[in-house]
Amino acid sequence: MNAADAVTDALCELHTRFAGLRDGRLADYIPQLALADPDAFGLALISMDGHRYSAGDVEVPFTVQSVSKPFVYALSLSVVGLDEVGRWVGAEPSGEAFNAISLEPGTGRPANAMVNAGAILTTALVPDTRHAPRFDRILDYLSRFAGRQLDVDEQVYASEALTGDRNRALAYLIRSAGPLPVDPVAAVETYFRQCAVRVTALDLATMAATLANGGVNPVTGDAVVPEPVAAHVLAVMATCGMYDASGDWLLRVGLPAKSGVSGGLIAAGPARFGLATYSPLLNPAGTSVRGHLALGALSERFGLHLMHNPALAGSTVTLVTTADDLPSAPTGERERAGRERVAVVAAQGALDFTAAERVLYALDESGPQETAAVVLDLRRVTDIDTAARAMLNSGLARLTGSGRRTAVADPADRLVGQGTAAAGAPRYFASREEAVDWCATRRTG
Ligand code: GLU
Repeated sequence: MNAADAVTDALCELHTRFAGLRDGRLADYIPQLALADPDAFGLALISMDGHRYSAGDVEVPFTVQSVSKPFVYALSLSVVGLDEVGRWVGAEPSGEAFNAISLEPGTGRPANAMVNAGAILTTALVPDTRHAPRFDRILDYLSRFAGRQLDVDEQVYASEALTGDRNRALAYLIRSAGPLPVDPVAAVETYFRQCAVRVTALDLATMAATLANGGVNPVTGDAVVPEPVAAHVLAVMATCGMYDASGDWLLRVGLPAKSGVSGGLIAAGPARFGLATYSPLLNPAGTSVRGHLALGALSERFGLHLMHNPALAGSTVTLVTTADDLPSAPTGERERAGRERVAVVAAQGALDFTAAERVLYALDESGPQETAAVVLDLRRVTDIDTAARAMLNSGLARLTGSGRRTAVADPADRLVGQGTAAAGAPRYFASREEAVDWCATRRTG
């Protein structure tokens, strides 16, 4: 029995709790989807380290349907860019059903890339060349998100191609609305094929985890899309991913998500996990009944709501008012003649904007009257992001500029990077002892 089985236990418990529910209906407007097993139910979670946890039917294949939309949107954003995609597809929740026949008043754009109109246009924006046909690119990207080669369920494709006139009508409507650089009517058949790509709940969890992990598949290490693209896709999923129930979902469950009419549902915890469920019985909004309940319960139980902020109270910064208080300080140091008291601010973990603000505040708190000299101890820092590095550098320059003697213990060169300190910057040392020693030695003259 492994400790991490506790995660599996939580998924199994949810599976048991909701497996017996018979509410909801199978989608039947694509006739093949009505053949799904109404009892199928699986839940999968992939961590940012690529650890997999699952319960129930997580290897049962089904067609991805609308859950393909965020990933093809990601592909369009990567290839064409946010501004260009944004000229043709909006980013506003429509408050309408997934297949609504409507475009944004004024602009004539589909409201967003998560409703059918926007998704068809997003698909159309993926370049189609002889060497890289549009659908091949899409299938390749979906496969990289999933971390394995996916294929098409030809029967479901044929079934939708036969009955998909509403989507064709949408494509004509879009084409009639403006001077598009691409042809959505030609692309709608590709859109049907993309919807018929076969996945499992484990695949979908990996795909969601890739978005949560800044575009890098946490299982294969493949950088599928750039980090800003992953962030943009998650933002649109958060506001528009659950169709006309998106606001209520964000309110109650609080995670970027996307559902599809075959019963797939994904949710992503940015920088935390990817989740997926499969259960084909749908509620009136077109979302899996069991999936909706299971993810809602999971979010509540583990405090996964995005607006809930468990990260805030962490102990990333500690302030020791004088170096003498440190366990490693030689006894009687303070008494030694000619030595100043030194404040030490120690940071640990990964420093981002929020942590950097705390470090700078602690540096200010550490002086200046009693302890004019201060050491910033970064030995236990594991990472400093670009924003935090810039903030720390300018904050430290202000400190030295204001006359405080400042040293940084930074053995891994995390702050200075190349090891070259700019003018006005503090002194850098490989150990805290050297930094304290330099600060404590009273200058003469
Ligand atoms: N292929 C489906 C359609 O366009 C996808 C809809 C969905 O999954 O919500 O009707």
